[in-house]
Amino acid sequence: MQRTVIKDIKDSLGKEIVLCGFVQTIRDQGSIKFIQLRDITGLVQVVVFKSSDAFVITKDLSIESVVKVVGKPKEEKQAPGGIEVAADKIEILSNADPDLPIPVVFEKGGEDADITKRLDWRWIDLRKPKNLQIFKLWTALEKGFRSYVNENDYVFVYSPSFMSAPSESGADVFEAKYFERKAYLAQSPQFYKQMAMASGFEKVFMTGPVFRAEKSFTTRHMTEFTGWDFEISYIESHNDVMDEEERMLIAAFTKVKEDLDLDLDIPTAPFPRITMAKAKEMLAKKNIKSEKEHDLSPEEERVLWELIKKEHNHDFVFVTDWHKSVRPFYHIRYEDNPDITKSFDLLYKGLEITTGAQREHRYEILKVQAEEKGLDIKELSGYLNFFKYGCPPHGGAGIGPGRIVMQMLELDSVKEATFLPRDVKRLTP
Ligand code: ATP
Repeated sequence: MQRTVIKDIKDSLGKEIVLCGFVQTIRDQGSIKFIQLRDITGLVQVVVFKSSDAFVITKDLSIESVVKVVGKPKEEKQAPGGIEVAADKIEILSNADPDLPIPVVFEKGGEDADITKRLDWRWIDLRKPKNLQIFKLWTALEKGFRSYVNENDYVFVYSPSFMSAPSESGADVFEAKYFERKAYLAQSPQFYKQMAMASGFEKVFMTGPVFRAEKSFTTRHMTEFTGWDFEISYIESHNDVMDEEERMLIAAFTKVKEDLDLDLDIPTAPFPRITMAKAKEMLAKKNIKSEKEHDLSPEEERVLWELIKKEHNHDFVFVTDWHKSVRPFYHIRYEDNPDITKSFDLLYKGLEITTGAQREHRYEILKVQAEEKGLDIKELSGYLNFFKYGCPPHGGAGIGPGRIVMQMLELDSVKEATFLPRDVKRLTP
């Protein structure tokens, strides 16, 4: 008999069905047992009477074991969800050691394990319905992004993680032994998505792992994370990149709202855009100390959101026009103000989720800007050559989906939104 998932039981009232899932709780009342069964679609109460064959099996049943239940559902007002399944047969598919290292559900007043322990036992931690919800949300968000790029003629490309030289700078890069030589793990797919522009692909979208050897212990940094990147050609300025990202995000948020029952504001276009100079001015008026003249601290990002929320009732803000000293050499600069780059960060609820820019596509200028940053032109020649034989003006952005999910659900850390986080201390499971 085909398996019925819990959310569809209501369509089979009175008929014999097969259910499979985890045993979430067992309540023993002597001659009758109540089991809460959990699958990916929900929870249902299974009742086992002493008179049924199933009763013997439940004698040694431990919570979190995986079982197959054959039984008949009926409406039962007192059961959670209003339906109860009377079990005729139960088969234990996999027995759980009763000594669970972390709880999946806890009694009222009980506490969850701390985050370190939860991550050590991540597969058990992920059984909690609220954690499953995080990944359902990520899935819907990614579907929305992909539907936008699918409908708008993007080409999907995937770039390698092994590099012969660090992708952006020598710092914060992981080295790997690569046969007889050294390789480096990509800190971003930046160079290769730009290469796609030089190949005439015009619009590319990619997802992939990004590696950062930063000794960061914050709630928003990991040493490996999933990045979503896009790059588009024939733009006039970074404004075109921001317009495109707005459309992507609106499509993605709309899909999340469609697929999940979530109280979520779909952002409206245009998102507020302010220059860095203006942002600093607004913050100074609020007496917020500026640690770095050309950068935003986490506190500044948060206060900026409060100010934008008040003024524009918006959770997003693009901060544009960053000083060249805090931007990489490949960000294009204003002709009439060469200290300032045509770049942006996008903040969502006070946290950076994207960096983007128009890129410098002119070989000679790019070389000068790289030299100015003290980079070795010879070492960079592989990248610089992308621009030597014709390359359209272009720009793009790198997006951190983990941070979007973190902010959407107001989670404490980006690690909560990551299937298996990697940080300075963690390489398992
Ligand atoms: P930050 O200033 O927060 O360290 P960054 O400027 O180094 O970030 P980018 O290199 O521009 O970030 O990367 C693009 C996006 O990738 C960021 O906006 C963010 O969403 C995400 N991201 C960057 N670093 C990390 C990290 N260590 N862990 C998780 N996500 C990250």
